[in-house]
Amino acid sequence: MKYDVLIVGAGPGGIFTAYELCQKEPSLKIAVLECGNPLDKRKCPIDGKKVKSCIGCKTCAIMNGFGGAGAFSDGKYNITNQFGGTLYEYVGRDEALSLMRYVDEINLSHGGKGTKLYSTANTAIKKKCFENDLHLLDAQVRHLGTDINYIVLENLYNELKDQVDFHFRTEVQTVEKTADGYRLTTDRGEFQGDICVISVGRSGSKWMESVCTALDIPTRSNRVDIGVRVELPAAVFSHLTDELYESKIVYRTKQFEDLVRTFCMNPHGVVVNENTNGIVTVNGHSYEDPALHTENTNFALLVSKHFSEPFRDSNGYGESIARLSNMLGGGVMVQRFGDLIRGRRSNRQRIAESYVVPTLAAQPGDLSLVMPKRILDGIIEMIYALDKIAPGTANDDTLLYGVEVKFYNMEVEIDSNLRTKHEGLYVIGDCSGVTHSLSHASASGVHVARHILSLNA
Ligand SMILES: Cc1cc2nc3c(=O)[nH]c(=O)nc-3n(C[C@H](O)[C@H](O)[C@H](O)COP(=O)(O)OP(=O)(O)OC[C@H]3O[C@@H](n4cnc5c(N)ncnc54)[C@H](O)[C@@H]3O)c2cc1C
Repeated sequence: MKYDVLIVGAGPGGIFTAYELCQKEPSLKIAVLECGNPLDKRKCPIDGKKVKSCIGCKTCAIMNGFGGAGAFSDGKYNITNQFGGTLYEYVGRDEALSLMRYVDEINLSHGGKGTKLYSTANTAIKKKCFENDLHLLDAQVRHLGTDINYIVLENLYNELKDQVDFHFRTEVQTVEKTADGYRLTTDRGEFQGDICVISVGRSGSKWMESVCTALDIPTRSNRVDIGVRVELPAAVFSHLTDELYESKIVYRTKQFEDLVRTFCMNPHGVVVNENTNGIVTVNGHSYEDPALHTENTNFALLVSKHFSEPFRDSNGYGESIARLSNMLGGGVMVQRFGDLIRGRRSNRQRIAESYVVPTLAAQPGDLSLVMPKRILDGIIEMIYALDKIAPGTANDDTLLYGVEVKFYNMEVEIDSNLRTKHEGLYVIGDCSGVTHSLSHASASGVHVARHILSLNA
């Protein structure tokens, strides 16, 4: 099968590449190859009753399929250069923001209309953070919510499906450069294309590494974020979440001068498992629909670890810590803050007596047996710092789920058009190491599509 453009991965990066190409040049022959299922066939077997924890499906319904890792996410589109990726380093700050706003418009016109856009600019909360040695990052946040995010994806798929050949349950195994383009070998045959855009996200990170090795594309890797997911009564953070929805707050620890930050805040949300390459870590999301709200808010506290030479395998380091928690807890582990501070494990009884009712059935345990001291000390320091702006954060019953790991894909060497050293081969979204969020990944797709269109102009 011969196409003008082959797109590997139907996450936000792949979807927005296809969308922009179809909008501007409907005559292009485009294929999207996706190892997961169509949106309506994505169903995680964990139901909290018969299946309580991850059973390691062949393709993870949470991470793979149309919509990518973002399909059941909270649908928070952060319009900012301060976090979520470094796209601005490639396309310029103004252009990066303009692309993210464009993505926002498309989301609004496909079902997101009426959702709220929050902003951290000029808030009293920012001042209060400064007074307590905490730093609130600037951003506009469009909160679609898991439910509206799903509708937007459904609408985008319905619009694209007649113009684009979607090949689901099709795992790309190799990428070969040919005389006039690229040949992709999959478990369902071969595909040829003039241009190839790879957007396989975090779940495709290992495969991406193999492609870079095979095609001799330079990469570098030195960062991983490790931490816990905090769950507490929504009232504790309501003054922040009501005004900002998501607040990214950074703190520099006194002990080690490490940076600890809040990440992925989900007011009235739920804590969930995440399976990356067979390792179960923790994440969270929340619904826009008030009927689906819980009484808790959850967010991650992450410590960034940057390694210097000769160590290169930062993801391997994060994986080892996550594996340790999987080994001790059989999956994700949960501990009350009060138990952690007293140096004892949480057990079923202590969790059952807690005033905070966990939204994820995790194994009660002791995070200090899993997390390196430096990282755990940083998290504890941050919890006490947050307690000053949101009293109640350091309560005994605050729940900590571990571990949360943000794996950063190695950075693939690409130019300002997100093109590798090979003409016609682009690497975008989270698998490029350039983006780590819905808005940046989507924006990178639009950017690449526009560049491809400019080649044909
Ligand atoms: C539970 C959860 C909640 C999140 N919440 C938010 C949020 O609220 N806001 C935010 O900004 N970000 C959030 N994120 C992160 C966000 O989802 C990602 O940054 C974003 O999806 C990256 O988009 P992408 O297109 O680069 O990759 P992905 O979304 O990961 O998509 C890549 C696709 O490629 C496919 N693929 C992989 N390998 C192959 C292969 N070899 N062949 C064929 N297909 C392949 C995968 O199946 C997948 O569908 C969340 C992530 C998770 C897991």
